[in-house]
Amino acid sequence: KLSVEHISKSFEKTQVLKDISLEVKKGEILSLTGESGCGKSTLLRIISGLEAPDDGSILLNGQNITSWKPEKRKFGFVFQNLSLFPHLSVKGNIFYAIKKKDQTAEKLNHLVEMTGLKGLENRYPHELSGGQQQRVALARALAINPELLILDEPFSSLDELLKAKLREEIFDLLRSLHITTILVSHQASDAFLIADKLVVMKDGAIQQSGTPSEVYQKPISPYVSDFFGASV
Ligand code: ATP
Ligand code: MG
Repeated sequence: KLSVEHISKSFEKTQVLKDISLEVKKGEILSLTGESGCGKSTLLRIISGLEAPDDGSILLNGQNITSWKPEKRKFGFVFQNLSLFPHLSVKGNIFYAIKKKDQTAEKLNHLVEMTGLKGLENRYPHELSGGQQQRVALARALAINPELLILDEPFSSLDELLKAKLREEIFDLLRSLHITTILVSHQASDAFLIADKLVVMKDGAIQQSGTPSEVYQKPISPYVSDFFGASV
């Protein structure tokens, strides 16, 4: 279980996160949404340890990990821009964060099978389609057997058709893995397709949280209902 407790963060004089608290239970998928600039990526960076909060704590299964380095947290991360290493093959990218002794053929095989990358192990990122690159980023995040999987708009770089296809495949995969996941998405339909819990942010604060259908049926503001109005 991951608990975010009263997290605040300012850059210079601007407060971008205001007393954020949320909880993701083990195996649960939480979808985080809200307009551009509301603080989603900043919150994910704090959860993953890439950025320190000004206030508040991050707890993993009750243990305070706020000061832990990112590597120690064992979180798998897929960034908005994927950030694959261009000079490394698919295999090199997937194995990037794991120990030499764990880099077995069996492990690689398992990961490429799971993410549909079989046969592409020795290609380089520029020799892959956007969807394939997306899968490599996901395979790399899964390679460390993450305690928490953090996906920041993982489909943003893809065209509409590919996005729709890949979303379904990846959502099926995620559901079958039972990994605790936080997914940032602009798309309301993503929340309905996959999320156990939905959190809507605005101006650095949580506007509303609940199951997707609770939030859909009882939006507390036009801002929240617009989120569904726009794309369901
Ligand atoms: P998007 O949907 O566009 O990805 P977001 O919700 O992820 O937006 P953030 O990237 O978290 O938004 O940014 C929140 C606010 O904090 C923005 O106003 C942004 O300009 C600001 N911000 C983010 N990182 C920094 C930084 N390192 N220094 C100064 N300001 C920052
Ligand atoms: Mg962002």
